[in-house]
Amino acid sequence: MIRPPGFKGAAFGEAAEGDLRVDAGRRRLVADELGIPTEWAFVSQVHGTTVVHAASPGRLGEADAVYTTRQALPVAIATADCVPVILEGSGFAAVVHAGWRGAASGVLQATVEALGESGLVAERAAIGPGIGACCYEVGDEVAERFVGHVSQTTWGTTSIDIGGYLESILNPLPVWRSERCTYTDDGLNSYRRNRTRMRQVAVAWLPSD
Ligand SMILES: [Zn+2]
Repeated sequence: MIRPPGFKGAAFGEAAEGDLRVDAGRRRLVADELGIPTEWAFVSQVHGTTVVHAASPGRLGEADAVYTTRQALPVAIATADCVPVILEGSGFAAVVHAGWRGAASGVLQATVEALGESGLVAERAAIGPGIGACCYEVGDEVAERFVGHVSQTTWGTTSIDIGGYLESILNPLPVWRSERCTYTDDGLNSYRRNRTRMRQVAVAWLPSD
């Protein structure tokens, strides 16, 4: 697990942990290490902008962002190239799944808005590992949705910097950002690299008092 410094309840998974959505045994090991309960709230991710509030663990339906105001109720999303984002603030923890579709549709803005409607304000954000601008080759129809965050792959084709785009949305919030690229880093799952069904899980929680 990658622990962003200065966060109270945030961890980004790595490939070696296995798929924590489905592997309860491995999830228990990781949970013990993090000092949190084994049962987490997950969502069925659809690259949309739906935000759900988790009041209990388990599968909460179709959504791409989940937050909780309950202590010691971990909320999680799974990725393999898409970018996980964790938001922390007083009284809540949130986690967001942002691929290019979700990012372009405004899933992160929708999350900040949903939190705001409940009187919750993010104080810091962590952007976990996703596919980097070094490798995220896209067509022009995708690139044109990320003006200002278009880049080039190491092999010279058009790419986008999803993490950079998300960071710009969060501005002026303090943001920690992983520099690892899922596509080139064997320690992370990458769907684009090998069409894997495995996912690393990003988990956020509100610690007990
Ligand atoms: Zn890369």
